[in-house]
Amino acid sequence: RTVVTIDAILQKETLTHSDLVTLLGTTDAGQRKKLYDAAYAVKLKYIGNVDHYRGLLEFSNRCIKNCKYCGIRRDNEEVERFDTPYEDLLAMAKWAYDERYGSLTLQSGERQDEEFIAYVERLILDIKKIGGGALGLTLCVGEQTEETYRRWFEAGAHRYLLRIETSNPALYRTLHPQDGHHKWEVRRDCLKTLKKIGYQVGTGDMMGLPGQTLDDLACDIEFFRHMDIDMIGMGPYVVHHNTPIGKHVLAAGGDSKEAQNQRFILGLNMIAVTRLYLKNVNIAATTALQALNPLGRELGLLAGANILMPLVTLPKFRPQYLLYDNKPCVEDSPDQCKHCLAGRVASIGDKVGFGEWGDSPHYFAEK
Ligand code: SAM
Ligand code: SF4
Repeated sequence: RTVVTIDAILQKETLTHSDLVTLLGTTDAGQRKKLYDAAYAVKLKYIGNVDHYRGLLEFSNRCIKNCKYCGIRRDNEEVERFDTPYEDLLAMAKWAYDERYGSLTLQSGERQDEEFIAYVERLILDIKKIGGGALGLTLCVGEQTEETYRRWFEAGAHRYLLRIETSNPALYRTLHPQDGHHKWEVRRDCLKTLKKIGYQVGTGDMMGLPGQTLDDLACDIEFFRHMDIDMIGMGPYVVHHNTPIGKHVLAAGGDSKEAQNQRFILGLNMIAVTRLYLKNVNIAATTALQALNPLGRELGLLAGANILMPLVTLPKFRPQYLLYDNKPCVEDSPDQCKHCLAGRVASIGDKVGFGEWGDSPHYFAEK
């Protein structure tokens, strides 16, 4: 087996497309260590060794969409649908504030009806009252009209996370039903609208999707730059048994331990190469990493990520928000998640920026 040496590429100021592909394809353990160390050095230079929390409140699993990889897609009838009671949401937000989390992320399935829009608007207004606007607020509730994005921005949300999933429209079509409601171009245009309104904009992709190539992943990173993205939330694809893509992968024997490990390594490589290429953006070490490796999130931080998203979702609803199989932290309470993550951060020598928003430096950098 020949080991591709990446030293020369890591010395370069500017990475070409083919450099990105080579780095993303690094599999040798020694070479990967060099890649992650280089990315961590860039994190230290542009961000520091302080990681920030975004308490993740998965408040409803009702969804009008049918993405073929997602466990809470509309057609998954095994899922019992829930809406977290409003008072519980405010109580959890207050808890996150008391624990000095700095920021919250509100996430749910996608809905576009006025009842939902008004509900989210009221929730933003009420959460912003806690501590006199002390909590930073990220929304992750899918594709909406410009008017809706504006309403929520004016109510006080200032960051929005909408993963493009893949920058390749042809691959996107294989992952979504062709019913006119799952259009790549619409999703891309949502990102442009969010930028125009003034949000700090986050996007991201999944790694290891069936049919995805290293070239696709390199294009994803270039897409992040082209779209002037501030925050990256991305992670390896993880199989959910009762979804069209999950069934296809399982039937083809594509979810062996080895296959999972390959997707995990791609996940780490993506974090590292994105850090090297984009430098001053926020990058999350997502739960999906930990679904494939018990030390996934620490390794993500060491590969250049600087954001963690501890679950604040009420424990009783966690088993109903399963995007994929073997989701970690489902049995834990918010308190356990807090201590567990703090230990993980300390174990690698980083610190948690308690009580701070930890906004993306990219958003404020001169263009
Ligand atoms: N409904 C909103 C949306 O799709 O933008 C927000 C919630 S959605 C559950 C958040 C993210 O979960 C998606 O953008 C997708 O990348 C990720 N996701 C869904 N199914 C997944 C799977 N099987 N493996 C890994 N990530 C998955
Ligand atoms: Fe719904 Fe989001 Fe899952 Fe797609 S990824 S089915 S929009 S929750």
